[in-house]
Amino acid sequence: MEFLEIKSKKKEIMAHLKEERTLVLIKPDGIQRSLVGEILGRYERAGLKLVGVKMLVPTVDHIEKHYTLDPNWRRVTGEKTIAGYQKRGLTPPSMDPLEITARILDGLKRYLSAGPVIAMVWQGAHAVQIIRKLTGSTEPLSSDVGTIRGDYVLDSYQMADIDRRAVRNLIHASGSVEEAQMEIPHWFDEKELIKYNIVQEKIFYDVNLDGILD
Ligand code: ATP
Ligand code: MG
Repeated sequence: MEFLEIKSKKKEIMAHLKEERTLVLIKPDGIQRSLVGEILGRYERAGLKLVGVKMLVPTVDHIEKHYTLDPNWRRVTGEKTIAGYQKRGLTPPSMDPLEITARILDGLKRYLSAGPVIAMVWQGAHAVQIIRKLTGSTEPLSSDVGTIRGDYVLDSYQMADIDRRAVRNLIHASGSVEEAQMEIPHWFDEKELIKYNIVQEKIFYDVNLDGILD
């Protein structure tokens, strides 16, 4: 009895993990650079499943809402940016995090509404963390080699600051499961997300691997 209980608990946890979802946007520069196939391929080859996809030109209102779904985003982004200036030995244009973020948000609105964007939902175990890892850190100058941003972009905060624009880093990817849960409904209706199986899931998630031999 106890064993069965443990087994069903384990099943619950596994079902939960393999159903983790994350939101990815290929920003206008990714489409202009013809990197759509490359980006999708990297997520696919890691074993993640594409469950929703669409192409659109987002409105500035939609972009602002996307970035401010988390009520702390304005403050945190402003603080991170001020710390970044200080680390480089530079004086920030303002010591008010909200003022700094207002500028960044203006840049992001111009950036993301400049052309079509591809919005996607990817599903699989640890989808959020795996996608962030493959995508690389926010500033391409310091993204690791082998990540999408490290391999395909050369932008930096310094260059973005000089030109008063957002850092161009090809992709947005949800930063946490909670962020994904807020972002996915902002871009997709539940009916646009398809529930289906792909055969490789047997290899990743089947406990006994007992369906291979005839
Ligand atoms: P992601 O883009 O995957 O969300 P992140 O969560 O680390 O990465 P945020 O701090 O949420 O990044 O910033 C969102 C986007 O805003 C970045 O991808 C970048 O394009 C832009 N951005 C952030 N900080 C700055 C900055 N200091 N200067 C210019 N652009 C910035
Ligand atoms: Mg973010």
